[in-house]
Amino acid sequence: MLLAVLAIGTLALVAGTGLALAARKLPAADSSLVEEINALLPQTQCAQCGYAGCRPYAEAIVDRGEAINLCPPGGEATVQKLARRLGRDPAPLKDLRPPPAVAFIDEDRCIGCLHCRNACPVDAIVGAQNTLHTVIEAECTGCELCIAPCPVDCIELKAAS
Ligand code: SF4
Ligand code: SF4
Repeated sequence: MLLAVLAIGTLALVAGTGLALAARKLPAADSSLVEEINALLPQTQCAQCGYAGCRPYAEAIVDRGEAINLCPPGGEATVQKLARRLGRDPAPLKDLRPPPAVAFIDEDRCIGCLHCRNACPVDAIVGAQNTLHTVIEAECTGCELCIAPCPVDCIELKAAS
């Protein structure tokens, strides 16, 4: 009985090791498909898809069935190409842009130093020396350039109303 168990155990160990070695030697069946899909992506490496670059996104599409409509720079044309190559339905390009945001000044903490007003490229901040400053929401683009210069950290981005 013990002999049988040992024999089976040894066989399993040998088989397992063999498979592991074989898997390492044989190139993953889908690596060439990953290359093809990667070649269909615009190579901007912008990470807007949520992956570190075009190749990691290509790997996710092939290896994990990730959605093919996550590449804004590639646009609808890339979605169509990926759908044709993979035999998938072309879904509309996903809008991955963050919701519009504008700067908001906590007027109770503002010391009226003008730093933010001077940093704003579109003159969206009004205020005078030593008086509180406020943001004209309609003018603000949410560029965040005013946040870092504020010495009292009283500016934050808020969802546009
Ligand atoms: S976020 Fe940009 S546009 Fe808006 S107030 Fe600040 S600097 Fe100006
Ligand atoms: S930088 Fe900050 S403290 Fe200075 S005026 Fe602007 S909001 Fe006020």
